[in-house]
Amino acid sequence: MVYWLHDHDIPQIELPKDKKILILFPHPDDECLTVGGTVPQLLKNNCEVTLVVLTKGERGTDDAHLDPQLGEIRTREMEHSARILGVTHLIQSDFEDGNLNQLKVTLQKYVHELLVQQQPDIVITYDLSGMYGHEDHIALSEAATFLMQKFFPEVMLWYASFPQKMYQQVSLPDYMATSDTFRSRIASPTARIYTGLSTLTKIQALYAHESQRYSFKKAFPAWLPLWFVTSLFVYEYFSIQE
Ligand SMILES: [Zn+2]
Repeated sequence: MVYWLHDHDIPQIELPKDKKILILFPHPDDECLTVGGTVPQLLKNNCEVTLVVLTKGERGTDDAHLDPQLGEIRTREMEHSARILGVTHLIQSDFEDGNLNQLKVTLQKYVHELLVQQQPDIVITYDLSGMYGHEDHIALSEAATFLMQKFFPEVMLWYASFPQKMYQQVSLPDYMATSDTFRSRIASPTARIYTGLSTLTKIQALYAHESQRYSFKKAFPAWLPLWFVTSLFVYEYFSIQE
């Protein structure tokens, strides 16, 4: 099954050492299947990892209605996941979930300040397709991409991405996309990282997001236990921007 999910033509890369890594995601749980195995490996390599989560994920309900109480629950779940992954710093902000697209100016200012304060060597975020067209993912990726090209060209930008094979096997929630145009913006991975035993840490982090377990389950065949399918994610993929 690992064979069906992974693309062995994509080169495996050496992990960065002694670097400052800034990971930017809109929602609690975005970190799990994208970088959940890579983060512990980066930490072992003496990197400093700051994870920034922009919203409390208060729209993570089954019909995407707003539930402030859920936002509080997910904030705690995010703290739990960050502790499991061992991130050096977790910054949780309170942008309105589902509304980043309407907050472009504030968002850009916030990300700009982060880049100035954190002075990262590498920034990791979603690609310009938002992986499956989620508008919050796209808004953040666009803001980070614009700022880095214009003001921080020396900082490396890594898009967390999936190979085609994974797109074929996993049911991503692309019904959340407001238009189909995101498909042409999906970045092809240029590098993959073998996550080895850190895959177990990734599974634990994913289970920390208890309130979202149903949405992870929807991504995979119902008869397969979640821990088992997550254990197949032994490589994580990135599209490293030149
Ligand atoms: Zn998300």
